[in-house]
Amino acid sequence: MPLAPVLDRLDADLDKSLARLFDYVRIRSISTDPAYADDCRKAAEWLVADLKTIGFDASVRDTPGHPMVVAHHAGPAGAPHVLFYGHYDVQPVDPLELWTSDPFDPAVKELEPGRKVITGRGSSDDKGQLMLFVEACRAWKEIHGSLPCAITLLFEGEEESGSPSLKPFLEANAAELKADFAMVCDTGMWDQDTPAISIALRGLVGEEITVKAANRDLHSGEFGGAAANPIRILAKVLADIHDADGRVTIPGFYDGVEETPTQVLKSWESLGETAESFLGPIGLSIPSGEKGRSVLELVWARPTAEFNGISGGYTGKGFKTVIAAEASAKVSFRLVHKQDPAKIRAAFRAFVEARIPADCSVEFHPHGGSPAIQLSYDSPFLTKAKDALSDEWGKPAVMIAMGGSIPIVGDFQKYLGMESLMVGFGLSDDRIHSPNEKYDLKSFHKGQKSWARILDAVSRRA
Ligand SMILES: [Zn+2]
Repeated sequence: MPLAPVLDRLDADLDKSLARLFDYVRIRSISTDPAYADDCRKAAEWLVADLKTIGFDASVRDTPGHPMVVAHHAGPAGAPHVLFYGHYDVQPVDPLELWTSDPFDPAVKELEPGRKVITGRGSSDDKGQLMLFVEACRAWKEIHGSLPCAITLLFEGEEESGSPSLKPFLEANAAELKADFAMVCDTGMWDQDTPAISIALRGLVGEEITVKAANRDLHSGEFGGAAANPIRILAKVLADIHDADGRVTIPGFYDGVEETPTQVLKSWESLGETAESFLGPIGLSIPSGEKGRSVLELVWARPTAEFNGISGGYTGKGFKTVIAAEASAKVSFRLVHKQDPAKIRAAFRAFVEARIPADCSVEFHPHGGSPAIQLSYDSPFLTKAKDALSDEWGKPAVMIAMGGSIPIVGDFQKYLGMESLMVGFGLSDDRIHSPNEKYDLKSFHKGQKSWARILDAVSRRA
């Protein structure tokens, strides 16, 4: 099935797709406020009605909270089956007085000469982003009478309020929702002209440690020199965690960490981010992590050990010559690739225990533990999506990693055994969750065509 007429149709129907988005943004589907529960249901029903016009077998599915929308459409024999995820709920609009126009009365405005944007709550997060995919499906269907892949859609109504119903829903409907891979749309571009695929999210392990020495606080004149000082022990433990080159010294810490492929590192280099541009705005200039790696590699593809808090002894005004009975620190690790949170926690505890004198002790309190998400660099879906995006935008799509977490990606892996392709067209100045949310018209237009191209690309056999 040729792609060109599908793209032409999306060009020709831009105004119609805008009108549909406007209708959708007008529905006040604020999930966190019970006063808008009916609006959330209305947003789910609106989607189902629209999807039925495209030929999807779509339904509103009740949960203990706001409903899910699930829709299925068959594809040609042998074509892959993709699950597309988005959310129809939005954030509250307060403080309303900071909006320059009604958040639920969307409009196209000129942000700066030559740059048009769609305004309104949800115009970007996530109604705008999810409608791109719906519009791409509509154009395929209108031109060819069918879709290039089998497609399942899952639209959630509680993403902005913690997704309480999502995990039970995925578990209960795993067989129905399972596909070859997932596409998750609430991510962004690198900049206005450069499309991006998010391929990694760092994991996290947190530990609070308390070093205990004497059975009470001591006078440092009376006992100093003879009695162990827990602050000194703790400081030594923490200082030992990094070597002079910024590497973490905990044995086994780098197990499961992979080297980033050279061509990926090169593409990051081409983004022009330097230590100066990255650290300058926060008043710094020297990267503190592993030597010989760029700042983007450090934050996107390398693990860290960070100290988030430290306490012990006398910290009030004035001075007190005390040897504290205990001292504690909060330590966290950002994980990448296949690092195992349980193993990292155990290795850290052993590392600490080995440095505690025999007459002292240490207590550990765990805080959270989640593995990193990493799409394989050689995933055929990734390569195809990358090429499709590059074709649409006229420049190479970059593979980036995400600072914030997208729990759905981990849930798809855990409950459905699926990798996710994270592609979105948001921009860092979209003001999602804030007053005056907007979505670039260019994102809306070229985003639809990007999805049409991605569907075409992934449906082709290698
Ligand atoms: Zn959001």
